[in-house]
Order: sequence, then C-alpha cells, then structure tokens
Amino acid sequence: MKITIVYDNEANPGLKSGWGFSCLIEAKEKILFDTGDSGENLIYNLRQLNIQPESIAAVVISHNHWDHTGGLKEFLKLKNNAKIFHPESFSKPIEISPGVHSTGALGGLIKEQSLVVNTEKGNLVITGCAHPGLESIIEKARQLGTIYGVVGGFHGFSKLEKLQEIELIAPCHCTQYTKEIRQKYPDQFKEIKAGNVIEL
Ligand SMILES: [Zn+2]
Ligand SMILES: [Zn+2]
Repeated sequence: MKITIVYDNEANPGLKSGWGFSCLIEAKEKILFDTGDSGENLIYNLRQLNIQPESIAAVVISHNHWDHTGGLKEFLKLKNNAKIFHPESFSKPIEISPGVHSTGALGGLIKEQSLVVNTEKGNLVITGCAHPGLESIIEKARQLGTIYGVVGGFHGFSKLEKLQEIELIAPCHCTQYTKEIRQKYPDQFKEIKAGNVIEL
C-alpha cells in the first residue's frame, strides 16, 4: 500500500503548493482522496508525479469545502467515468474499494468522511480537514481495527494525548498544532508535503 501526497499547502521542489489537500492511495485500485483548491495545480502535480488520471478508479471527497473539491471538475474532464464518493452519500462506514473503507460522514454542520486503509502494519487513517474532531474520527476508525497511522489535515485538534498509541503521525494542510505534535511525539512524527510518499 502506497500513498502519495499530491497536493498540500507546502510542496517539494518541482510541484505546486496551494491551500488544500489531495493524496493518491494505491491499494487494489487507485483512489484519489480530495482534489485541492485548483484543478490546474492538481493536474500539474499529477503529471509531475507520473500519475495518469485515467488510471484512477475512484475519487473520494472528504467534505464540501473548496480546498478539497476545487480540482474535481478539471480531473473529471480527464477521467469522466471515475466513481465519486461524496460525504453526503452515506452515514456509516462502507467499503469504497478492497481494503479501503470510509468512516461515513461524521460531524454536525460540516459533514466529513475520512478513509481507513488496510496495511500490513495496521490501518492508516486519512483525513481531509478533520472538522468533526480528530478524536471522533480516531474513535470511529478504531471500530474497523487497530490504527497504525494518521495522515492529513488535523485542523484545530489539540487533545494530543489521543495520539499516544499511534505509530505514524503525519499532519499537514490545515493542522494548527504541528509544532506541538512534533514536540510531543518526535519519533512518531513524519513531516509531509506534496510529493512525499508513504509506503506501508
Ligand atoms: Zn474544510
Ligand atoms: Zn481543508
């Protein structure tokens, strides 16, 4: 299982950064999670990373905010038959693709889904902005098995003790307390931005 950060507020050389998040999950099928805030930048980064849009089977949108949906239209021009999973589609965990589950929509005002991906080391949780609260997402994801890692936007998450048993902590995008997380969990912390790859 491999995930590539395609879009983030920060980028490695050769890639475009922008306010938003997107990553590609390569499990049995290729799944794009979120699309950043700009279609132009999204497609540019996919090309630079040698990812063919046509090879992507499904797009999962975490929640209906422009910094996660912005690139969807441009992407669909290149791959108009991709399956699309919106958070409004279902309210409980479902399997999106073999080994890849959605938590289902969580939260009140802002409905958001996160992904739980099976890996050899345990489950990897992938979040967009974590508006429902990362602690709620973790709690829901634990119903699907032991969590090995958490990747994505953590937003204002500050209950850092909830990350204690998680071995890989990779916050990016809208995370406000990155510095504090790194200080508290220096061994588990992994810095990521567009272009980084996690293989498990
Ligand atoms: Zn958001
Ligand atoms: Zn966001």
